[in-house]
Amino acid sequence: MEINKNKLRIGVTGGIGTGKTTVCKIFEALGYPVFYADKEAKNVMADDAELVERIKSIFGKHVYSDKGELDRAYLSKIVFQDREKLDELNALVHPATIKAYENWEKKQTASLTFKEAALLFETGSYALSDRNILVVAPQELRIKRVMERDHVTREAVLARIDKQMVDAEKRKLADFVIDNDEGQALIPQVLKIKDRLLELLAIR
Ligand code: ATP
Repeated sequence: MEINKNKLRIGVTGGIGTGKTTVCKIFEALGYPVFYADKEAKNVMADDAELVERIKSIFGKHVYSDKGELDRAYLSKIVFQDREKLDELNALVHPATIKAYENWEKKQTASLTFKEAALLFETGSYALSDRNILVVAPQELRIKRVMERDHVTREAVLARIDKQMVDAEKRKLADFVIDNDEGQALIPQVLKIKDRLLELLAIR
């Protein structure tokens, strides 16, 4: 998708614990704005009045408190047990998050803007980016990192990994792959991609 000749929209994705947030923090440190789609999805569920009403119509009014706060634990419990309800929720939240992203992106003046999303390929929203970056790391390292970061069990991390698209499929859709293992330094890989993206912009 080639929308604006003066800037590139870059998607950043990767399985749990691969380091996509870490990569995005490096791009931010280089001065480029990042939209964190998973965090924003939580925000729209609280702030987007139309979405709030639709969630209430499916899950009941009591899913929000009198003060308007979403009971995330209750909602998670429902969708964890009911695949159809999860799909319904995603079908509501996903377009609202895309809308929030589009509004955010329009306001950005930087030459490169980034969107971090765990399910960029799974949801098809990678098609809204000019280029997409996939972050990969060996499974054992991902498990170790997430166990340390979130204080969760190995089984809990594995359960989340099992629900995600496998890297081999994601690689086919990615324009750039960052190997965030212990053998290759991360920052030089990020800088190389940044230079390549700026080159792409220059030759448009
Ligand atoms: P999630 O899908 O859960 O959001 P993620 O892909 O965004 O995960 P990060 O949060 O960036 O992954 O990284 C997972 C953990 O591993 C973090 O605690 C992070 O600080 C650490 N980490 C990531 N990359 C490296 C690295 N190259 N060296 C050391 N620690 C790292």
